[in-house]
Order: sequence, then C-alpha cells, then structure tokens
Amino acid sequence: MFRDTCRRFAEREIGPIWEKADRESEFPRPFFTAAAKAGLIGIAAPADVGGADLGVYEEAICIEECARVNPGLPNALIIQGVAGGILHDFGTPEQQDLARASINGEKILAIAVTEPDAGNDVQNVKSTARRDGDDWVLDGIKSFITLAGEADVLVLLAQTDRERGREGMSFFAVDRNSPGVEVSRIPTYANRPAPTYRVHLNGVRVPEARRVPAGFRQIMAGFNRERILVSARWLGHMQHAQDWALDYAKTRHQFGRPIGANQSIAFMLAQNQTDIEAARLLAYEAADRWDSGCPIGDLIQQVSCAKLFVTQAVVRVTQSALHIGGGWGLTEELPVMRMALDALVAPVTVGSFEIQLRAIAKQLGLPCD
Ligand SMILES: Cc1cc2nc3c(=O)[nH]c(=O)nc-3n(C[C@H](O)[C@H](O)[C@H](O)COP(=O)(O)OP(=O)(O)OC[C@H]3O[C@@H](n4cnc5c(N)ncnc54)[C@H](O)[C@@H]3O)c2cc1C
Repeated sequence: MFRDTCRRFAEREIGPIWEKADRESEFPRPFFTAAAKAGLIGIAAPADVGGADLGVYEEAICIEECARVNPGLPNALIIQGVAGGILHDFGTPEQQDLARASINGEKILAIAVTEPDAGNDVQNVKSTARRDGDDWVLDGIKSFITLAGEADVLVLLAQTDRERGREGMSFFAVDRNSPGVEVSRIPTYANRPAPTYRVHLNGVRVPEARRVPAGFRQIMAGFNRERILVSARWLGHMQHAQDWALDYAKTRHQFGRPIGANQSIAFMLAQNQTDIEAARLLAYEAADRWDSGCPIGDLIQQVSCAKLFVTQAVVRVTQSALHIGGGWGLTEELPVMRMALDALVAPVTVGSFEIQLRAIAKQLGLPCD
C-alpha cells in the first residue's frame, strides 16, 4: 500500500520532469514542494516536528520507488532526512523548527561536511568556527555540497577547537543567504538533477543558538542511516536499469530473433536479477535493524555490507544494461548511458567502498586502518 503510494508519486512527480532537470542540471523546486505535500519528507521524523513517525524501512521504500524513475531527485529527499535528522534528533527547539520547515516543504536543507582536503577523511575538516561574543565566525571551503545553491539552510561541520581533534568539531545551521556565504556550481556527469556546489565561507557570523549541541561522534553515527537510504536508492536504480535491459533484450532483434535469446545476454540478465535480489535483502535487513533500535555498534556491519554490495552491484547491472544496449545504448536516444553514468557515483560517495570494507574488517576484529 505504502509502496504503491510512493510508486504513483514517483511516476507522477518525477517521470515527467527528470529528463529536463538532468539535461539542464537544475533542481526543480516544485518536486520538493510536491514531496512535502505527499508526506514524503520526514517519513521517519517524529510527529512533533511534523514527521510521519514511521521507520527507515518505509523511508527506504520511498527512496527505492523514486529511484526506479530517476536516482537524482530522491537524493534531495535523503539529504532532507540526514540534515533534518541532525536538527530534530540533536537540535534545540529553534533548530527543530528548521527541520519542521523542511518537512513542510518551506525550507530546503543541505548537508555540508566534505572539503577539498576532507573527502572520505572527514576528521580532516579544516573549516573553522571562532567564538566572538554570542556569535561564531566561520571560515573555510566546503566542496561537493548537493543543493547548496538551492538550499535555505546549510547544516555544516566546522572545527571549533583544533586542539581537541574530532571532539572539537560542531555542526551549525547556517542560513545560506548569510553575508560571506558564496556558492559556485561543480559540474558533474552524475547526480545532475540535484546539483552539487563549492561553498566559500568568508567570515560568516552564526549565532551560538545555531550550533547543534551534540558531539561529533554522536552525530556522525547517524550517518549510517544515510548509508541505508543510499543502498535503497541504488537498488531502485538497478531495478530501473534491469527493467529497461529486459525490455530491450526481448524487443531488439538481430539474426532473426530477440537478442535475449542468446544465452550470453540472457545470463547477464539472470546475473543482474541475482544482484538485485541480494541487494534488496541486504538493504532492507539493515533498515529493519536500524528500526529495531539496536545499538549502532551492532548494526555497522550490516549497514556497511549493504552499502558496499549495492553500490558495486549497481555499477555491474548498469554496465550490463549498457552492453545490451549496443551502439544505440551509447546514444542520447536511449536512456541507458545516463543510467550507467549516474551509477558511477554510488561506490565513491557517502563512504567509498574501501571505507565500507575497512568498517567491515574492523567489525571482524581485524586491526585494519
Ligand atoms: C555528486 C556528489 C554529491 C555529493 N554530495 C555531498 C553532500 O551533499 N555533502 C557532503 O558533505 N559531501 C557530498 N559529497 C562528497 C562525497 O560524499 C565524498 O566524500 C567525496 O566524493 C569523496 O571524494 P574525494 O575525491 O574527496 O575522495 P578521496 O577521499 O580523496 O578518495 C579518493 C580515492 O581514495 C580512496 N581512499 C581514500 N581513503 C582511503 C583509505 N583510507 N583506504 C583506501 N582507500 C581510500 C577512495 O576510496 C577513493 O577511491 C558528494 C560527492 C559527489 C561526487
């Protein structure tokens, strides 16, 4: 029932608009408003901030169904969940109001962690926040910040006390139109409907009331939730590519028969299906565990296995689909090259596959660094 609702939403609200958004690399704000109206932002957020108070399992269903149409736009929903989650789980009442505004469709949030020298190595964040009276003054550069150009609020990580390492880091809810915030587009080959930006912070004044009162470790543990949703996103994309490739294999004829009648093509599709089934089990098992409330330490392995497997499998599945598309697959007349390009972002973002392998190895008791 919930899945059907999400599927209908995706077909109605993403189907007609994603190609233009992708071609022009412009985020369509009406999509955000429609998602909020349909109750699809803040699915797992508590009711007192306007959320649906469901689980990450349901959130994953929504993301998967949206990504079956296009993987770029549901990324905007994942980001609202991650940035909003920091604000409603750890924030003050004023900060929780910002999460509520995102859930209502009034404000877009962006999450700003990555920097030019802090990609996977998040602890190397160099942006600084210096206390000045009741304010903090922020300086630095953030990179790859999805929707920074469209966002109303950046939920941004900065060093408040370099001496204390990661204990000296805080998240701030920064109004994007604050004096000293400058954004510029980073053109990418993937993720184009939800564009990504470089953000310069030049003496940006942020009141102490906008500093999230929780520690770095506590907040970063919540990023495991993002990995579950990212797994659901790429699962939906795999299914989309497989649906397309199956249809093409059955309808494209060469040598007087469908190309899918050749065992080599049929086996590729059978292998893809196995990847999809395995990905689904891993992603939803991780979501189930998250919702069961088990301690983070007891679900890291499951989450990293899901993120690792799904983000590698989506590359395999889309590459097979591209091969099945033959020469036409490489043209703009078919959608499969776009699918393959989009998939390439999966294993390198939100903790690359090496980072997931490292997390799993550590869970196995190996002194791996
Ligand atoms: C389209 C897009 C959207 C994004 N959106 C956001 C966003 O909204 N907010 C945000 O904060 N960030 C965002 N990111 C950043 C993203 O999550 C990654 O942090 C970032 O892409 C990492 O890229 P990098 O070039 O800095 O990688 P690097 O960390 O420089 O890694 C380069 C290579 O080295 C490998 N590597 C690094 N460390 C190790 C190690 N210890 N062991 C083995 N191998 C290692 C990596 O796996 C990778 O293959 C986005 C990125 C992209 C591409």
